[in-house]
Amino acid sequence: MTTGRFAPSPSGPLHLGNLRTALIAWLSARAAGGRFLVRVEDLDAQRSSAAHEASQLADLARIGVDWDAPPIRQSERGEAYAAAIARLIEQGDTYECFCTRREIADATRAPNEGDTERPYPGTCRGLSDAKRARRRAERPAAIRLRADGERVDWVDRVLGPMSGTSDDLVIRRNDGAAAYHLAVVLDDHDSGVTEVVRGDDLASSTPRQGVVARRLGLSLPIYGHVPLVRGPDGARLAKRHGAVTLDALLEAGHTVDAVRDALVRSLGMPGVGRVDDLRELAVGFDLASTVSASPIVAL
Ligand code: GLU
Repeated sequence: MTTGRFAPSPSGPLHLGNLRTALIAWLSARAAGGRFLVRVEDLDAQRSSAAHEASQLADLARIGVDWDAPPIRQSERGEAYAAAIARLIEQGDTYECFCTRREIADATRAPNEGDTERPYPGTCRGLSDAKRARRRAERPAAIRLRADGERVDWVDRVLGPMSGTSDDLVIRRNDGAAAYHLAVVLDDHDSGVTEVVRGDDLASSTPRQGVVARRLGLSLPIYGHVPLVRGPDGARLAKRHGAVTLDALLEAGHTVDAVRDALVRSLGMPGVGRVDDLRELAVGFDLASTVSASPIVAL
């Protein structure tokens, strides 16, 4: 059965762009008669808060996005992550990495546009036993998965045929916590997610996640990377564009129905007034043909 999901990081309130992506993911899963899940990506304890989690879930519900199982939190999945990391180490697919961010930055060129992570230059890939022992005495090691530029191809439901390569990526950080890409792949797999609809800023993460899945023998979900919402000036939606969260919009005098309506119209669909209309709209929703190339939500 089709199972979709939305996986926000509770590090602040959702803005219109997040809500639009959530709505698309929900419509897509519901159009297929499928299930929909919400996952709380609170792996980064310092940036996450229970208050943001609660407000994000409440905003999703107000817009009309519902979910079929209690949301899982990444902060409660440590055992599953540790088991997968142990397996990858056992398989011989990993090595210890002692590099700091600074060292990696110094050793690499700026990432390609749209790629938020710098490719790892492979500094620790072939350390001798003596050198490794020396570095272990200096600082704790992260664990990296060997990918060595492996190619991952996928047919994106929005972007079309896509292809990318993965560098050697961290699967366990040097503070012992599971790394983000490993967590996402395991979470999607363990909760039976079959389709991932998310912002196109994450398309560049897909090859890395694809390599993690391969090494663990898991199949990849179907991906649809949707364009991020832009302000009237064409820039990625941000606070400086004014009222961009649901609460701010309500304070500015809009109603939840008006916000939902604007989000739906930004998908090129007839507007909706009530939550029930949204459910009807889901019946005919087609991800590929509905997501416009440069979404601007105008209220
Ligand atoms: N937590 C990520 C974000 O809020 C989304 C990750 C994903 O959908 O795979 O940007």
